[in-house]
Amino acid sequence: MYILYNDTIMPRHLFRVDLEDRGYQFGDGIYEVIRFYDRVPFELEAHLRRLAASAEAIRIPLPVSLERLGENIGKLIGENSIQSGIIYIQLTRGVAPRGHLFPAAAQPVLTGYLTPVERPVAHLEQGIAAITTEDIRWLRVDIKTINLLPNILAKQQAHEAGAHEAIFVRNGTVTEGSSSNLFGIRDGVCYTHPANHLILNGITRQVVLRLLNSVGLKLREEAIPHTELYRMDEVFITSTVQEVCPVIRIDGQPVGEGKPGAFTRALQSAFEQAIGTSQSAATP
Ligand code: PMP
Repeated sequence: MYILYNDTIMPRHLFRVDLEDRGYQFGDGIYEVIRFYDRVPFELEAHLRRLAASAEAIRIPLPVSLERLGENIGKLIGENSIQSGIIYIQLTRGVAPRGHLFPAAAQPVLTGYLTPVERPVAHLEQGIAAITTEDIRWLRVDIKTINLLPNILAKQQAHEAGAHEAIFVRNGTVTEGSSSNLFGIRDGVCYTHPANHLILNGITRQVVLRLLNSVGLKLREEAIPHTELYRMDEVFITSTVQEVCPVIRIDGQPVGEGKPGAFTRALQSAFEQAIGTSQSAATP
């Protein structure tokens, strides 16, 4: 298996994380997860732009230009034999003797590698159960930092409750999922939290917002009150890996009729078309 290290493609076994990498010691870094279907990255530009925005927000310079990084991702797919999966890119502030201040001499460390991932077909077809839990994260979750402890604890809590996603609630309103954005539909209106510092502005979220019109939904970028969540006709989550996934139970209560709703189904097929179109557009 070949990985990306700064500007070099190299065999995985030759790469080592340094004991004093600031990502390892402080969580001082950011990341991206990009889906590729049939060897073509989906929404690559948008992911690269968000990576650059996250890096800038915590003041880590990129070791290569975004254009070069995009080319290197293409090479990484070329050097490996994985057909469909995810590209994980991580950028840390680099290696330096431990200390809180930004080190003067550290060189940022950028790594990237591929993992094969199937589409979550069973979840997409049947929908998933979710729980709600308190959003204990910091106030800049719009930055995609590698500090995911609250997300991990929430996801584990969901798993132990027999559910697949934890929905964060902050001050009585729904923000997003532990690894996804959340949408609720009521009377033909689609509600989702506005893209501010309290959610990660998902790339899948942005694709879905562009598709709402075509399935006859109106958009209101408003936080859903926790109590209203149980009264939605339909609820779904979105992410690079989970795509557009119906939520059919929340905290043990059925959403709508307890099965994926018609608007969610329509969005799922529009999203599948978007995936297909991106491939045919990119493949001569
Ligand atoms: N919110 C959180 C907290 C996430 O971890 C993710 C997945 N990275 C998302 C939203 C969805 O983002 P995207 O559609 O870009 O994968």
